Amino acid sequence: MRPNTSIRVRLTIWYGGGLALIMLLFATALYVVMARALEDQIDRSLEEAAVAASRSLEEHRFGPFLLLDDLAQAFPELALIDKFFQIFGPQGQVTLQSANIKTRNIPLSQTALQSSLQGRAVFETVRFHDEIPIRLLSYPILHGQTLVNILRVGTSLQPEEEMLARLVFVLLIGSPLAVVVSVLGGWFLAGRALRPVDTITLTAQRIAGGDLTQRIETTSKDEIGRLASTFNDMIARLEASIRQIRQFSADASHELRTPLTITKGETELALRKPRSPEVYREALESNLEEIDRMSRIVEELMFLSRADLGEVHVASDPVQLDTLIQEIQLQAMVLGKERHIETTLGQVEPLQVLGDEWRLRELILNVVDNAVKYSSSRGTVQISLTQYHGMARIVVQDHGIGMTPDEQRLVFDRFYRTDAARAHAQKGTGLGLSICKWIAEAHHGTIEVASTFGQGSCFTIALPLLPATPVR
Ligand code: ADP
Repeated sequence: MRPNTSIRVRLTIWYGGGLALIMLLFATALYVVMARALEDQIDRSLEEAAVAASRSLEEHRFGPFLLLDDLAQAFPELALIDKFFQIFGPQGQVTLQSANIKTRNIPLSQTALQSSLQGRAVFETVRFHDEIPIRLLSYPILHGQTLVNILRVGTSLQPEEEMLARLVFVLLIGSPLAVVVSVLGGWFLAGRALRPVDTITLTAQRIAGGDLTQRIETTSKDEIGRLASTFNDMIARLEASIRQIRQFSADASHELRTPLTITKGETELALRKPRSPEVYREALESNLEEIDRMSRIVEELMFLSRADLGEVHVASDPVQLDTLIQEIQLQAMVLGKERHIETTLGQVEPLQVLGDEWRLRELILNVVDNAVKYSSSRGTVQISLTQYHGMARIVVQDHGIGMTPDEQRLVFDRFYRTDAARAHAQKGTGLGLSICKWIAEAHHGTIEVASTFGQGSCFTIALPLLPATPVR
């Protein structure tokens, strides 16, 4: 069958073919069983007649020559119209036959004679040209061991032939009719069952045309219903990720356009008229700052897209977290020096995790850098490292600008920056925390924030401890 033939046609053909085969087998079996049963029935009735007649013959002790009248009187069954009788002498010559024998003389066959001589009855079917077949039973009548007569009972097979012919006729008409009716029913049912698939195809075509808002309407919970709801879920996810990609591209171009506009504006301004070397220097320094910012955005974007593609390698070595935190605290002191922001260490336990030291440094430093960046002058930041439920818990607490609960939910999204952050510190890409989240998760850990707007924030990073660490 060609692969592009519709399922409906294929189902119907398979169904119709299977049914036709079953009907053929059934009709053949029925015919064979019926024919065998009819033959058995005839043979039994021939046998009964032969047994009764022979008993009667023995009772009357007829000799080798019998008179039909005597026989008919002695045994009324002989007058039965559907059977005829013949009595042969022990050499096979006809001595007597009933009047209802329609066919011309039916001689005793050699087989029948031989079987009778051996004392065995034998059944035969004979068919004269264009005449109805006849079933014959040759039954030996013995006196002691000696064959006295051979009694033959015969009957026409016409009624049985007719009955079988009628059966064949009914089967020949009935079976194809049953197949045709069932095939039509199958075609209708297959059409009904496959109609929802057509609806799915139509919706899929509309979606392929670009309309991702389309959904398949489904209420049923059957296989098609489940297919439709899986399809709807898939489209919903596709729509969400396409929206995210569009939003991401819009945000990325917006974030890159700002430093570009600043650079362009400052360069144009500097070039408008001849200026002193100091002014040029200032303009170039400002441009360099914006170029730095653009490179940072591009670098961070590249990291995130490589991370999305699974191309970022994360090493798995033992990392001494307490040492790492002490080094980061010193860096934070330098970062906060200008605005007199002090970074201190709280409780620091000697803990080891399995991971990538370079990436873990990036993660913690990013959070500590934010804490310093979003603190007010003369503020304080505290870093602590403790063990909690088999995890190393790093807490970075600041007393800076803080965030509202809605903002806290969004800070790990790419390019998200709170209004307060934009007003407080111009520098920033909105990508740092997305990277932090990715690094924490790549180490099977988590990063969370708890904050009060205007009062400060507390970032908590949890990382699984090195398996050998005794759990407290
Ligand atoms: P950015 O480069 O803007 O700092 P991040 O991804 O690191 O980007 O942070 C995203 C946003 O989360 C920041 O713009 C700021 O609004 C908010 N944020 C992060 N850390 C703090 C903090 N310690 N206090 C207040 N707001 C913070």
